[in-house]
Amino acid sequence: MRTIGLLGGMSWESTAEYYRLLNEFTRDRLGGLHSAKCVLWSVDFAQVELLQSEGRWEEAGALLADGARAVEAAGADLVLICTNTMHKVADQVQAAVGIPLLHLADTTAAAVRAAGLRRVGLLGTAFTMEQDFYKGRLASHDLEVLVPDAAGRAEVHRIIYDELCQGVIREESREAYRAVIAALVADGAEGVILGCTEIELLVGPKDSPVPVFPTTRLHAEAAVSAALTP
Ligand code: GLU
Repeated sequence: MRTIGLLGGMSWESTAEYYRLLNEFTRDRLGGLHSAKCVLWSVDFAQVELLQSEGRWEEAGALLADGARAVEAAGADLVLICTNTMHKVADQVQAAVGIPLLHLADTTAAAVRAAGLRRVGLLGTAFTMEQDFYKGRLASHDLEVLVPDAAGRAEVHRIIYDELCQGVIREESREAYRAVIAALVADGAEGVILGCTEIELLVGPKDSPVPVFPTTRLHAEAAVSAALTP
């Protein structure tokens, strides 16, 4: 079994899910007392959020590159950035280490393609929904990506930072997400990517008339497969 390196804490609410899912998928695959071999490097998210909001991506990338070097030195054989948004600095992180980075947009796109879909809605932070680093990577897998309108994007983003990353789950916010999902489906989305690692704490398959793609779950599953592939 290979050792999985995690760059987490963005936020820790979803990193805790990663840890649980890695261990559950490993137990499902190997049975008995088996659990995932992993190394976690976890940041203070307030520091990262400040760098994000001030557009200081180079510094944020340097911070995560330090983390990647640390998990590599601690024995990790592959590394995961446990947030969709921070894949904005994925190239900087990959360049810092010799171990492979398992890119979240690639694992997500593979799941969408495996489901036979091409046109998908994308929910995430404003960075993820509006910039090219994530949408472009999905498009390189021949996916057509739809995002909510400006008001929908603002609400989805606000709920992530003000609630989900702080462990707050509100029924009104679930309703707001359901409405945004319904609008994406009305625009032609055949599936919806939950493209922020906390979103699956709020909504799931029963909140959507089309398949949803939960990125934390898909990333953790792909990591376990990679760790167990000889
Ligand atoms: N975990 C979130 C994501 O997947 C948002 C927090 C962050 O900005 O890293 O994008």
